[in-house]
Amino acid sequence: MKLILLGAPGAGKGTVAKMLTELDGSVQISTGDILRGAVKAGTDLGKEAKGYMDAGDLVPDALIMGIMGERLQEDDCKQGFLLDGFPRTIPQAEELKTLLADLGITLDMAVSLDVPRDVILDRLTTRRTCSNSECQAIYNTKSNPTKVEGVCDKCGSPTIQRDDETEEAISNRLETYNEKTAPLVGFYEKEGMLLSVNATSSDAVVSAIQEAIK
Ligand code: ADP
Ligand code: ZN
Repeated sequence: MKLILLGAPGAGKGTVAKMLTELDGSVQISTGDILRGAVKAGTDLGKEAKGYMDAGDLVPDALIMGIMGERLQEDDCKQGFLLDGFPRTIPQAEELKTLLADLGITLDMAVSLDVPRDVILDRLTTRRTCSNSECQAIYNTKSNPTKVEGVCDKCGSPTIQRDDETEEAISNRLETYNEKTAPLVGFYEKEGMLLSVNATSSDAVVSAIQEAIK
């Protein structure tokens, strides 16, 4: 399947994307993961992106479009892809539309994961991520804790709270989301591609997507 996953930080885009990859071999493409990988590897891209990310601000559109223009042409995308965290602004959505048309790729739909704000806040402050960049498993100290506190179940690396998961950065991310990204729901509705789902449960989201795509 070829999907865009829309939703506030903490709506569960990453979790849903990982569940969907297991269904049909589509790849998850997370611009957040790509950027964090670049920061960790100390590449030019990473150096440019880090300041924006730590503050909870968006990285400039031109950088993101450069990354995605290349990524979408890689072989593993032929099987299908789940865009997680991209597009994030109207200009990115417009450019993506042109890019996909040029590449001859048609999307199935854009899925909006709707979650109440209090649930979002609670999820973000309790989220922990595996520090191993090859693994990046996501946990939650309340709803999905690791078996041993602070240790990834899958690979044994320490689990951490991301730099952008301080309270200040979180509130900035939510504000940025409302201002820059929320308008994409209307954009994809106009394109006739939107599926809105209640995303309080990730399992229910996956079922709704499977049902809609049949
Ligand atoms: P979130 O949990 O906020 O959805 P992500 O892992 O998707 O986090 O992204 C982390 C950070 O990476 C964002 O706060 C932003 O700085 C940057 N980023 C990721 N994707 C994009 C994008 N499409 N456009 C601009 N910045 C992005
Ligand atoms: Zn791990």
